[in-house]
Amino acid sequence: MLPLRIPKGRVVALASCERYALALARAATDGARSDDDVSSSLLAGRALDVYVEHEIVLGPIADPLEDLLSWLWARGELDLRDQVIAAGDRLDLGPLASAARAWAGLDPAWWPRTQAAVAAHLVDGAVRCEGRTDVELGGPLAARPAVVVEVKLGRPHPGHLTEVTHYALLVALRDRAAPAAVARWYPGGALAEMSVTLDVLRSAARRLGDAILDWAQLLVGRPPVEHPGPTCSWCPDAGSCPSFQAPPDPFEDGGA
Ligand code: SF4
Repeated sequence: MLPLRIPKGRVVALASCERYALALARAATDGARSDDDVSSSLLAGRALDVYVEHEIVLGPIADPLEDLLSWLWARGELDLRDQVIAAGDRLDLGPLASAARAWAGLDPAWWPRTQAAVAAHLVDGAVRCEGRTDVELGGPLAARPAVVVEVKLGRPHPGHLTEVTHYALLVALRDRAAPAAVARWYPGGALAEMSVTLDVLRSAARRLGDAILDWAQLLVGRPPVEHPGPTCSWCPDAGSCPSFQAPPDPFEDGGA
């Protein structure tokens, strides 16, 4: 059971619904596959990460599918590579690769880094919070303000804000200096920036502390609290959970 692993996704999931967090962990352990729609959106999200990294590190994408498969192979992400191949035409990769062009031509003076490791090992390593930031810019070595950017797909969601503020905390612990700002980037949209204040760090630390305590209790058998909300739409337990809440009907109010 130890070390207790609290990755970013678990902090976000626990803040949404404890039962959902357990269901995700079980699905990952069982190697269970989510339904086609959810699986496609996860693959598309990873593809977008790769395209942004490719633009920053190597330059433009020549062939969205071949470049993605090569990248995943080089990184040893062979299961994911197989899933991309199996998904075939369900994945519309061209628009994602085109959107990533927005990252071309970054000023090297900002010292762009991709997939940088961040971690907080607490209680002599018994609790490990590890992750990788999508993009980091600036910082003391670049003599520019440090900025952490998370690449996101889909509509903005409160969980995305939880993710970037969590990374603000881990970067602050890693560098012993908080980043000046965190931002979310959505394809085709402007950066959604946020200054990293002491309050932002305090609330991220509180959320992490709660996640550690809750996860430890759940692992020793405390029944999870069910908290219905938007997460129900893609929850692995949606078919069996008594608290499941269907998403609101967009046409309920008569539409536009
Ligand atoms: S269906 Fe909703 S309430 Fe039930 S576990 Fe999933 S997210 Fe939680």
